[in-house]
Amino acid sequence: MKIDHIGIAVKSISDAVKVYEQAMGLQVAGYDEVADQGVRVAMLHIGESGIELLEPTRPDSPIEKFMSKRGEGIHHIAVRVDDIEQALERVKASGVRVIDSAPRRGAYNTRVAFIHPSSTHGVLLELVEHGE
Ligand code: ZN
Repeated sequence: MKIDHIGIAVKSISDAVKVYEQAMGLQVAGYDEVADQGVRVAMLHIGESGIELLEPTRPDSPIEKFMSKRGEGIHHIAVRVDDIEQALERVKASGVRVIDSAPRRGAYNTRVAFIHPSSTHGVLLELVEHGE
C-alpha cells in the first residue's frame, strides 16, 4: 500500500490549479468528473502520489457539504490497494464504520470506497484500486 493522493476541497479548481502549478511547479495530469458525487476533480502528480483538487458541481455534493461546515482544505487521504474487495472486507471485518459497503466508480478509471472518519480518528480515508 501507499498514499495514492490527498484530496483537497476547493471552491474553484481553476483558481486552485494556478497556485499548485505556478507556485509549486506541479502539473495537472488530468481532469475528470464523478457525476453521481457532484464533483469535478483535477489530479496533480507529486512523485508517486498525487494532489486531488475537488470542486463541487451542485449544492448537494458531499464536497459542498464539507466546505459549508469546514471551509476549503484537506478532505481525505487515499490509500492505494491492489484488491479493493479484499481491503474493504478486512476493514468491515475489523468493525470499522464504512461509507461505501461496496466499491464504486471513482475518477480516472478507479474503483473506490470511503471509510467513515468517525472510525479513523477524524480522517476520511479512501481506498482506491486503479484499473488497467
Ligand atoms: Zn480521492
